[in-house]
Amino acid sequence: MTAVRPAELIAVASLHGEEQTKTFENCIKCTVCTVYCPVAKANPEYPGPKQCGPDGERLRLKSPEFFDDVLKLCTNCKRCETACPSGVRIGDIIASARGKHGRKPLSLTTARDFVLSHTDLFGSLATPFAPIVNKLTEQSLVKKAMHHTIQVHDHKSLPKYSHGTFRRWYKKHVADQSQYRRQISYFHGCYVNYNDHSVGQNFIRVMNAMNIGVQLLEREKCCGVP
Ligand code: SF4
Ligand code: SF4
Repeated sequence: MTAVRPAELIAVASLHGEEQTKTFENCIKCTVCTVYCPVAKANPEYPGPKQCGPDGERLRLKSPEFFDDVLKLCTNCKRCETACPSGVRIGDIIASARGKHGRKPLSLTTARDFVLSHTDLFGSLATPFAPIVNKLTEQSLVKKAMHHTIQVHDHKSLPKYSHGTFRRWYKKHVADQSQYRRQISYFHGCYVNYNDHSVGQNFIRVMNAMNIGVQLLEREKCCGVP
């Protein structure tokens, strides 16, 4: 098995956009990625990272007709990428393919996908009115309406929003973190920022108890998973 030298890893890590997807050329077809994929393990319909990533990309470059909707099952957890000995950006390849080929004509379900995938936009709109939004989305009539129109199953509950954002709470309430001996940067993600502040608050408490200061990144952008 070919080991990737540190210099190659740095070169791969510094790639952007289209160039990331070209890393499929480094694939040596060892299938290690498929062994590590939790989705392939749990869902027989998902062919796995090798087939959806580097193998599929070669075909999609020939013709977009080779794009398969099954790619939507990838959760972008990136376990395949950390396992790959050749530095192939498998998760990025799959996410880029979905962005490029997975678009559908405008309909109620594409509107739903737009709402659910723009977490920053809709999180910012919903958090100031969190109690009202939460109350509305738990009503059985609203759930039934969503089931029959935008196909959000009425057995499912949408995540609740918190009032305000975690970032605002951090700025207002967290004491100066530079007093701690060691420092870390915390990527809190959309869920902590808009839905459940307590995860981030508890994380800061634990870190501070271990004499570690928690700094937020100057700006966070959605990781793209939704
Ligand atoms: S993408 Fe990486 S881990 Fe997967 S088959 Fe290719 S070389 Fe192996
Ligand atoms: S990123 Fe996608 S393909 Fe890779 S391990 Fe996670 S679910 Fe599987």
